[in-house]
Amino acid sequence: MYKLPTQIDWQRRKLLANMALSFAVFGLPIFGRIAAAEGIVEAWRSVQFKKDGLRCAVLKAGGFAMSPATLFPQASEEALSKHGLNTETIPFDIHSLFVDTGKNKIVIDPGGTGDNSGRLLGELRKIDIDPESIDTVIISHAHCDHYQACTSEKGVVNFPNARYYLQKREWDYWASAENAEENHHKQFSNLLLPIKEQFELVDGETEIVPGVQALLTPGHSPGHMTVHMGKSIAYTGDAILQPAQVVHQAWCAEFNRWPAQVLSSRAKFIKRVALDKALVVGTHFPSPAAGFIVPGSSGFRWAASSPTII
Ligand SMILES: [Zn+2]
Repeated sequence: MYKLPTQIDWQRRKLLANMALSFAVFGLPIFGRIAAAEGIVEAWRSVQFKKDGLRCAVLKAGGFAMSPATLFPQASEEALSKHGLNTETIPFDIHSLFVDTGKNKIVIDPGGTGDNSGRLLGELRKIDIDPESIDTVIISHAHCDHYQACTSEKGVVNFPNARYYLQKREWDYWASAENAEENHHKQFSNLLLPIKEQFELVDGETEIVPGVQALLTPGHSPGHMTVHMGKSIAYTGDAILQPAQVVHQAWCAEFNRWPAQVLSSRAKFIKRVALDKALVVGTHFPSPAAGFIVPGSSGFRWAASSPTII
């Protein structure tokens, strides 16, 4: 069992926000949680921040471990070590992003793993957000780690008052048993098909709700999208899986079905967020999963934002 964090005192944080100039990242308690599974140590931490008039929270919805051979088959052990990556297993966190625009309460990628799909609901409640108050759910793509918390194992819809947004081409792909990968197709059929009437299927670059834009970034899946909010906040989905890929953009996971498209979508995303000087939230980046993509003389680098940066 992991220790529950103390309840967040949002009012106090609001006060602190007013003291900050334009951008505040609030570090919440770092929750020492040790997961025995596969020897991976997971540090659970959540980050809240206010930026561009939006209240946001990066919420850890789960995590698992990946083999470097699957994740980065092109990378040498030396290159992995240079990026602080274990050459045996790489922790693969799952982070959802909560956004309150003032008009809409949004969850992007309500993810999880099969055995802890309710975790995200707990994380939302800890920041005083009732899942029933969520009116918008955005799913970057229909791999089940990005939507596992939409529905409970018992079939209860966890965000009953929300409209759900997914690219139409993504829906069509996963709805077709012939083309789709078996496990994800099964999860799609079990968890998303039953709530089809709650979905708005969008096509290409779209403003989902005022101030929140979807950018089509296919390759990882046919209708993958990244999400861009306010003036300069972005959510990666699986356009970039780990910070090392900001430097090594050509590192491409085995499970990327269309690698050439992945690389061009990744380049498009990186160019945009670097230009926007966006705060980037990486779904599978190590917690707290927030930072900036910074251009340099020989490419780009990842600058993680620390909760102590205000
Ligand atoms: Zn993923």
